Amino acid sequence: MIAPWLEAAWHSLDARIRQARLPHALLVAGAAGMGKRDLAQALAARLLCTAPDAAGFACGRCRGCVLSAAGSHPDRVHVTLEARDDGKLRSEITVEQIRGLSQHLSMTPQLGGVQVALIDPADAMNVSAANALLKTLEEPSSNTVMILVSDQPSRLPATIRSRCQRVDARFPSRPAAMAWLDSKGVTSTDAARALDFAAGNPGYAVELAAPARRGVLVEVLTTLEALLTRKAQTADIALRWTREDAGERLAFVAQVVRLLSWRRLGARAHQMPELDRLARLTDQVDFSKLWAAWERTNRARQDLGGPLRGELLLVEVLRAWCELVPRTA
Ligand SMILES: [Zn+2]
Repeated sequence: MIAPWLEAAWHSLDARIRQARLPHALLVAGAAGMGKRDLAQALAARLLCTAPDAAGFACGRCRGCVLSAAGSHPDRVHVTLEARDDGKLRSEITVEQIRGLSQHLSMTPQLGGVQVALIDPADAMNVSAANALLKTLEEPSSNTVMILVSDQPSRLPATIRSRCQRVDARFPSRPAAMAWLDSKGVTSTDAARALDFAAGNPGYAVELAAPARRGVLVEVLTTLEALLTRKAQTADIALRWTREDAGERLAFVAQVVRLLSWRRLGARAHQMPELDRLARLTDQVDFSKLWAAWERTNRARQDLGGPLRGELLLVEVLRAWCELVPRTA
């Protein structure tokens, strides 16, 4: 299923395939939760299908489709984060993976059609991997299509970006996003609040509307308020969050700070009362301070899986949050 806001992009890709004008490399870019992966997978399936339907989607029945669905199509390569020896996912796509891909793409398609490569998340390629991919992008073999998927395309080298045709997943209008959330069974009040917190990203909003996540979000917002009004201690909260899902909570903190800094730039009032109270408490804070807090929070999110103790990272983030508003008494 293609998200409704990606339908125009799909029609355009479909038209280019029919005219045999599809470029060798595409970069499907946009925020997480926007349905980019579904689009990339549908495109890969379509390219390996011998009898696509009128709207350009894979038929699901031909040999190519059956092999694609089983994950055993010889002309489909999926490059993604691999598991390390200890079972955890690597944080990078390695140069060996890209070399393996290039070797694969240099062969003739085994089923006589095209070779399709999905690289996802493309921004996780390390420098050597990106350099290796660049060589392949510079000398594309015929009958190959590379589909790069990225939530953070700015992290990709400009040389890679410039060699890919970009397919942007942009946020739909608010009414379109509300209609989509309604189709997912989210009530309009919940949808309005979630969409506000998600800054217009419907995929993120639908996640936030799930009762469990909404509960955590409200807990984080009220905790941040208690910290600003000195009704809670950073050390206590850090300890509590270490025992829960600290990454999820830090992601919420980062989004809160981002929304508050946008409000400095004139964005409208928030529909979540908890967020509105935070906005009032921080309405004298400089944009530059909010920006610094946002960067610090994101650094802590990246460091969470590393050797530093999570509790210390949380204390640092929460202290910086408290310092946004000076103690009044
Ligand atoms: Zn098919």
